[in-house]
Amino acid sequence: MLTERLAGKISRFTLAEEGRRMGLYFYFREIVSEPGTEVVLKGGRRVLMLGSNSYMGLTDHPEVKEAAVRALNKYGTGCAGSRFLNGTLDIHIELEEALADWVGKPASVLFSTGFQVNQGVMATLLNRHDVVLMDACDHASIFEGARLSMAKPERFPHNDMETLEKILSETAEDKVKFIVVDGVFSMEGDVCRLPELVALSERYRAALMVDDAHGLGVLGREGAGTADHFGLTDKVDFIMGTFSKSLASLGGFVAGDRDAVDYLRHHARAFIFSASMPASSAAAALTALNIIRREPERLERLWRNTRMMKDGLTELGFSTGDSKTPIIPVYVDDAYTLMMMCKRLDEEGIFVNPVLPPAVLPRNSLLRVSVMATHTTSQIGFALDMFERVGKELHLL
Ligand code: PMP
Repeated sequence: MLTERLAGKISRFTLAEEGRRMGLYFYFREIVSEPGTEVVLKGGRRVLMLGSNSYMGLTDHPEVKEAAVRALNKYGTGCAGSRFLNGTLDIHIELEEALADWVGKPASVLFSTGFQVNQGVMATLLNRHDVVLMDACDHASIFEGARLSMAKPERFPHNDMETLEKILSETAEDKVKFIVVDGVFSMEGDVCRLPELVALSERYRAALMVDDAHGLGVLGREGAGTADHFGLTDKVDFIMGTFSKSLASLGGFVAGDRDAVDYLRHHARAFIFSASMPASSAAAALTALNIIRREPERLERLWRNTRMMKDGLTELGFSTGDSKTPIIPVYVDDAYTLMMMCKRLDEEGIFVNPVLPPAVLPRNSLLRVSVMATHTTSQIGFALDMFERVGKELHLL
């Protein structure tokens, strides 16, 4: 039986119900088709997808699907155990080696989700005597990892290297210092200032981890990510990634030096005490990775589409911030107008995600437009027409 205080806390949450009542609720929308550039919603309506993280557009690729089916038939539906004990398959090892080779690190280890990677790595390596330094726009799983580690959290304003340096300079020299940033920021679409981060980590002897969930497949040679883009792979201690974006699957990994990765394999509770990812997910990620590496034209198409969308939105007069990637935020300060915009775009056949605090900083509400390599020019043209129509209607343009 719930205590009164818990029941009170639950009953005070009315925002979702108010949104539903006003017809302004755009979460948990049911999709009944493959996650392509267009999806079919429950009820049969087909909409253009501008809210996917599948930047490479590989989730419905025949080769990726076939590899998953083949693995499913060979290995069954689940591993029924942790990697540590009975849940390691040869395909897990193959994928770990392929990922390490891709990002340019000696070793990597898989986790069942990217969220668990951040929790696992930080909670394992850090303790209450240490200091963890995080960008204010880092992903929620990084803050969860920091919390679990009990290290002293230090948040610096977004991409503000001066404040980071100030905090580092005021931290006792003998403290373990661990800097964690998103390579590409998941809502803002801008890129971390890696050269300065590396210089600071060297000057103040801090470890550096890059969460490259949104950089892998998007930046760098063969999509090898943010560190590769800057030519600084060797200077980053840990690169983490997820399979739920460009790699068309589910799961995550962290890559680093062989000893560090082996330490994590033997200590990370989020790894040891959680079942390993099914073979079908591993096979899908491995095949997606091979396609990304062998078909550079996909990356070119992604950037062509990104430019067309970003230039188009900016020329219309929308504010898209500092985005440098296929994640293009359309900032709309007022939450009601934002939800109205989402509603009108939905009616015009466009699926796009509204993002409100705390997922973004206060007063930074946005529509998160994300572009895929597989979008066609005419789909992007249609999206821009609809943004113009709706923007004018709502007096945003
Ligand atoms: N880091 C970042 C930057 C992310 O955007 C996400 C997913 N939204 C994660 C980590 C977690 O990854 P996963 O979806 O694999 O749990």
